[in-house]
Amino acid sequence: MHESFQKVLSIQELDINMIRLLRVKNERKKELSKIHYLKEDIERQVKEKQTATLEIKKEIRMGETQIKEIQEKVVKFEAQQAAVKKMDEFNALTQEMTAAGRERSAIEHNLSDFMDRLASEEDLLVTLKENLQATEANSVIIEKEINEGIAKINTEGKEILEKREGLKETVPSEFFTIYERLLKNKKDRVVVPIENRTCSGCHILLTPQHENMVRRADRLVFCEHCSRILYWPEAEVAAGAEEVVAPKRRRRRSTATS
Ligand SMILES: [Zn+2]
Repeated sequence: MHESFQKVLSIQELDINMIRLLRVKNERKKELSKIHYLKEDIERQVKEKQTATLEIKKEIRMGETQIKEIQEKVVKFEAQQAAVKKMDEFNALTQEMTAAGRERSAIEHNLSDFMDRLASEEDLLVTLKENLQATEANSVIIEKEINEGIAKINTEGKEILEKREGLKETVPSEFFTIYERLLKNKKDRVVVPIENRTCSGCHILLTPQHENMVRRADRLVFCEHCSRILYWPEAEVAAGAEEVVAPKRRRRRSTATS
């Protein structure tokens, strides 16, 4: 039993490492899609601005054509006016010319608004394009970095899986099946030592009887609260406790003398 525990604990460390790697990989993938989204968003804005400036340019061309037509009309009125002999006809033409003049200044006013809008939209377009270029340059670097990171994770993961396959063969299949099922549920360590009479997975205090069953280790014992498999960390705890206390004292002494 003790040997099986050692092996499952080794597998567990590999699995925990694998879970961590997959988490990192997922985060990196999310970063990658965020970059893509950002790029697409700026591209969309550039397209929208381009369409907007084209629309304004169309309006401006239309206004310019209208002004030209009015100018031609006025020239015609002037010619007619030079030819008429009656006063009321002359006055009517003057009125037509005044109206044309008013129409012209209204269109000119609109045109100047369009010109202003075009200038500011074109400025924005320049900024957006610069922004897009910077983002594209940046994303190439970041994407490369992320993809390299993912490739490294994949290699590391493959190595872990290979090691795991080898170890798996040496563990009783029943124990291994239970371990895997628990791991799948918790995505965390599921074979845990008893520490200070508590399950080190969920930190619930165990009864002395429960603790004794774990210590005997003649079968698998589960934490009644969190269902993790418990083991008695005899050697590790004894050695670990001394190691933790001793260096601390030494360190304190050395800082006092220096
Ligand atoms: Zn527990």
